[in-house]
Amino acid sequence: MPANRPSTVGVCPLCEATIDRHDVLIEYERSEGAEGVYAECPACQDVVTPA
Ligand SMILES: [Zn+2]
Repeated sequence: MPANRPSTVGVCPLCEATIDRHDVLIEYERSEGAEGVYAECPACQDVVTPA
């Protein structure tokens, strides 16, 4: 298993379920250069920004 990318991107800010990389819908670059992510929470099915 490659170790250079984490398999999780964070946790749901609503229910604290772990968000896996395969749950990610959109990755985008924010103006300050940081990476932003929208993902669908596998637990509550909401589109969230992983915390
Ligand atoms: Zn959730």
